Amino acid sequence: MTAYRYLLAAGMLGLAAPLAAQAPADPPRAQSDEVRAHVEFLADDLLEGRRSGTRGYDLAALYVASRYRAMGLEPGAPDGRWFQDVPFVRAAPGETVLTGYRGDEPVALGPDRAALRPSPAGEAIALDAPLVLAGRGISEPLLGVDDYAGLDVAGKIVVVLPGTVPGQAGDINAHVGSIKAEVAAAKGARGILYVLAAPAPRASRFLDYMRGNEVVDFIGPDGRPSGLPGALEFEGYVTLEAASALFGLDLAPVARAAAAGGEIAIPHAPEARLTVDHRSVHEHFTSPNVIARLPGSDPQLAGETVMMTAHLDHVGINPEARGEDKIFNGALDNAAGIATMLEAARLFTLGEAAPRRSVTFIALAAEEMGLLGAGYYAAQPTVPLDDIAAVVNLDMPVPLYDFTDVVAFGAAYNSVAEKVADAGASLGISVSPDPMPEQNIFVRSDHYEFAKKGVPAILLFTGYANGGEDEWNAFFAERYHKPGDDLSQPLDWRALARYADLNYRIARTIADEPDAPRWYEGTYFGDRFDPGGERAARPAALDSAPASH
Ligand SMILES: [Zn+2]
Repeated sequence: MTAYRYLLAAGMLGLAAPLAAQAPADPPRAQSDEVRAHVEFLADDLLEGRRSGTRGYDLAALYVASRYRAMGLEPGAPDGRWFQDVPFVRAAPGETVLTGYRGDEPVALGPDRAALRPSPAGEAIALDAPLVLAGRGISEPLLGVDDYAGLDVAGKIVVVLPGTVPGQAGDINAHVGSIKAEVAAAKGARGILYVLAAPAPRASRFLDYMRGNEVVDFIGPDGRPSGLPGALEFEGYVTLEAASALFGLDLAPVARAAAAGGEIAIPHAPEARLTVDHRSVHEHFTSPNVIARLPGSDPQLAGETVMMTAHLDHVGINPEARGEDKIFNGALDNAAGIATMLEAARLFTLGEAAPRRSVTFIALAAEEMGLLGAGYYAAQPTVPLDDIAAVVNLDMPVPLYDFTDVVAFGAAYNSVAEKVADAGASLGISVSPDPMPEQNIFVRSDHYEFAKKGVPAILLFTGYANGGEDEWNAFFAERYHKPGDDLSQPLDWRALARYADLNYRIARTIADEPDAPRWYEGTYFGDRFDPGGERAARPAALDSAPASH
């Protein structure tokens, strides 16, 4: 070969290389037998419903770690392990005596008027503290609301009315409603009592339930149960009637105004206080998040990670369940999500090249107990939160029909959803708007715990098209969180494999693209959880969606 010919050949190669890079090989495809194998193992009766803290869950965790190993992934938990052991405390009910006072006058607070939830903060809680009425208990400067303005609640017990912020989307109000204890704690309160506006028979059933059911929480890095931060020692409930008696006011009109989202004027209340003698029985246990890592290939981007998460737990066995079947197998919720994650992980290992960013896979504990495994991970992450490019969460796909569309919860808030549209188009799957906004799904699964730390996150559901609506309605009505969510359902394994293909392509795109997803500008969740962070422009198509404030 002459030098000339050599140069020509090299030039041709130089042309050929970028062309090849622009036309990558078809992505590997998910296999229905793979996802089927995972679901059939995890949803078997032998796993006993995979409740966190039980042997059934531990077997499921071992299975996931074993699959990670088989795929050649690296352990992603501390100390080179697969398991991040999450410390939990379970508070079971004990005896509680509550005595209220208006001035010096005792106010009866019998079991039909007030109840405390078993407190993970201590087995014996004794205190005597003033009560302060704090409106709806909302303090959100971004929404222009501060029910705590002018109040000093440090060392006191706050009493909060039901009520939301008028004109805001359901997701936003669900978030605001879920952090009332956190807000009270940040203001220095020692306890929080939620006022029940429900009429008598319903209120008293609710009080019995809250008093009589155990509370599970994880222990945070500060040694405190996560749900009772700061100096907060308990959460409880009081009827509207009892709260009115304590404050010597008729609170009914105020509660009505709060519920209607109107102006609330809290009248000056005479001094009220509460003595609390609260017992509960504590038990400590651990249950693991199961974590694997696939290192990225690009020296510039490998320090960042894309996360795929799915909760591994379900609700276990309930001997009191109606009918003969007492095992809550959670085939869709969430053996199907774990199967999707494992299959996506396998596809990542099959590609010709490793992804540019690293990818972390987490099978999360205790989602059903209140997103606790995710909350623990977000509080003690194995990679810095700033380095997480995005979270793709997999929870409860419904592969009971040949789905043709998906819903991306979080699509209105961050740009992860734009990858869903691209990946969906490559598989003939379209993206539909949220058909169940009243369910506030965005704040009801594990990705929310990551979103709260500023990480753009989404969850995909199979959509309502092509028979989906009927399947979803029947599932929610008949099998969701019931023993019937098991392998007797007519699972469409090819549909589940397609769902795995879709989620793999979404995560793969995020892993390979130069720019990481961002929160959209002008959205509450972005401004709230990632203040000062870089923003993506909000697509005009979303302007009709109820996401902005
Ligand atoms: Zn569930």
